[in-house]
Amino acid sequence: MKIARFSHQNAIKFGIVDEGELVVLAGDPMFAGYDTTGERVPLAEAALLAPVIPRSKVVCVGRNYRDHAAELGNDVPVAPMLFFKPNTSVIGPGDTIVLPPQSKQVDFEGELAAVIGRVAKNVPAEKALEYVFGYTIANDVTARDLQKPDGQWARAKGFDTFCPLGPAIETDFDLDGAATVTTRVNGEVRQHGPISDMIFSLADVIAYASAAFTLLPGDVILTGTPAGVGPFVDGDTVEVEITGLGILRNPARAA
Ligand code: MG
Repeated sequence: MKIARFSHQNAIKFGIVDEGELVVLAGDPMFAGYDTTGERVPLAEAALLAPVIPRSKVVCVGRNYRDHAAELGNDVPVAPMLFFKPNTSVIGPGDTIVLPPQSKQVDFEGELAAVIGRVAKNVPAEKALEYVFGYTIANDVTARDLQKPDGQWARAKGFDTFCPLGPAIETDFDLDGAATVTTRVNGEVRQHGPISDMIFSLADVIAYASAAFTLLPGDVILTGTPAGVGPFVDGDTVEVEITGLGILRNPARAA
């Protein structure tokens, strides 16, 4: 089941995607279940929004694909390498990524994202996926030229608009299947890799992270990016596609 958050007639609503229409839900299904209002909205009349606004944090894993670690000259980490993006970096499908004047190289990083659905603390890996509400697509936008000199990644990864999410949350995604992450800039493929190449599994990441800090419903986990990261510029359109999750498409413009 695909769940979208959308704006329609000046109201923000949640809906289940059903053959070109949205079956409108009475509330946020993460907290209010799946009661429907009886209303159906054609997808073409709805403006999709980020499917979730992280309650407290976006937790990201750095260098979680071997080929990507290598392309930037880094060793593969021995434990999940965690960092945060602020929830103010989140934008939705179709929203504009704003390239800040402080950076001369902003890169795309297409990633599988998991949305946490229950309070998670000290969760063992065997049970970790029970805490996932669903899956969506993320672009871990990065000011690459600020990342190393800054030391900490908070600024390079945390600018406003640097975390596009969407287009919807899929609750039935097959994490062990053959899904691939593909990133295109203006239609040209730049990244293409299977999620099975992840070094640390999502379950391992949730266990590792929740042993340190509490994950709240609505928190989002970005699972790392395959090889092929690179820059995009003013006027480009970046799209990330993941098998079964759709396409997350965002234009970019200079600030
Ligand atoms: Mg990343």
